[in-house]
Amino acid sequence: MSQSKKFLEQVEKYGAHNYHPLPVVLKRGKGSRVWDVDGKEYLDFLSCYSALNFGHQHPRLVEAMIQQVDKLALCSRAFHSDQLCEFSEELAKFCGLDMVLPMNSGAEAVETAIKIARKWGYETKKIPENRAKIITFENNFHGRTISIVSFSSEEGYKAGFGPFTPGFVNVPFGDLTALANAIDKDTTAILVEPIQAEAGILVPPPGFLVGVRSLCQRHGILFIADEIQTGMGRTGKNFCFEHEEAKPDLLVLGKSLGGGLIPVSAVIGRRDVMEVIRPGQHGSTFGGNPLGAAIGREVLKLMTDEKYAEKAAAVGQHVQARLKKESLPAVKDIRGKGALIGIDLHESTGGARRFCEALAVRGVLCKETHTYVIRLAPPLNISMSDLDEGLDRVIAVIKEG
Ligand SMILES: *Cc1c(COP(=O)(O)O)cnc(C)c1O
Repeated sequence: MSQSKKFLEQVEKYGAHNYHPLPVVLKRGKGSRVWDVDGKEYLDFLSCYSALNFGHQHPRLVEAMIQQVDKLALCSRAFHSDQLCEFSEELAKFCGLDMVLPMNSGAEAVETAIKIARKWGYETKKIPENRAKIITFENNFHGRTISIVSFSSEEGYKAGFGPFTPGFVNVPFGDLTALANAIDKDTTAILVEPIQAEAGILVPPPGFLVGVRSLCQRHGILFIADEIQTGMGRTGKNFCFEHEEAKPDLLVLGKSLGGGLIPVSAVIGRRDVMEVIRPGQHGSTFGGNPLGAAIGREVLKLMTDEKYAEKAAAVGQHVQARLKKESLPAVKDIRGKGALIGIDLHESTGGARRFCEALAVRGVLCKETHTYVIRLAPPLNISMSDLDEGLDRVIAVIKEG
């Protein structure tokens, strides 16, 4: 019996079935490649949903982690750590904003931004108690907590989990008129993904983010950008909002902020907004731990030293150029920005899942998103030869139908 088969039977029995993974059991990774328990090699074209923008086990990140784990890994926020003090300044400056509130997972950081936005609305805009409203978008994905799934438009994310948190309204993504109409005196913030990645790599029309930005300015409401997946270089800029110079009031980061090693997330924002949170009103035992802060600091240095945004732009251009050169009757649309690319298949193909299964057999790992879309999001430092090797297989599998 293969090792994989043994593990698949084990996890089927003992692991909760909250995911539907491809039948691949990994045990090692390096750069853009991973290996399974039977020694089979794969190219990683998913990058843990963009948590691995720097690839697996980047030597500088591993070194920063080992150095810090030997000194101080955890100390709670009852005390300061040198690493968190430095990381706060470096991250704020990197984002062009003023203050940082560190958390661990992405969903926790989104929850944090919601709390800040509500409190700011009550204190600054004098919104009547319990009336603060946050506008979100149809097909959004911001995580899995009760409050976050409360404003999901996806049945599968919320069915059976009510009662839900009130205070959110959804409008169609990319529609500035609908957005303007949804704003009222109780609106405190607009929460937006610059590209809806989980929804199938949906890129809004040009000008949408500046439009959101200016509506926020006009009505005195907060612009919150969830760049958990689009940040840290993925779309060809450090942050996706930079494509339109639409700087948010609150920026939410996660995923690659932890260098693909541990969970590190944060809300970074304008000082006058961040200051509504006072001692005792929010926190996290592990949030801002020195180990995560040390890794985050090295992530920021790498972003500059190794020019990840430029790498992403080059990877994206190459992928789009190669795919668009082919005649692929199964494909309805190819879209994305930088190295975040969706291949949208026709419904007649029966969906993207079996293409991803066929790719895994051929040694390329990617994952379907929203039934018909194959998401391609390789590590940003993938070599052009690895990229071509993976693309050859992607193209072959799509051609075979
Ligand atoms: C992944 C993701 C989240 C949630 O992050 P977790 O670490 O899984 O909680 C939130 N928003 C976006 C845009 C994401 O891609």
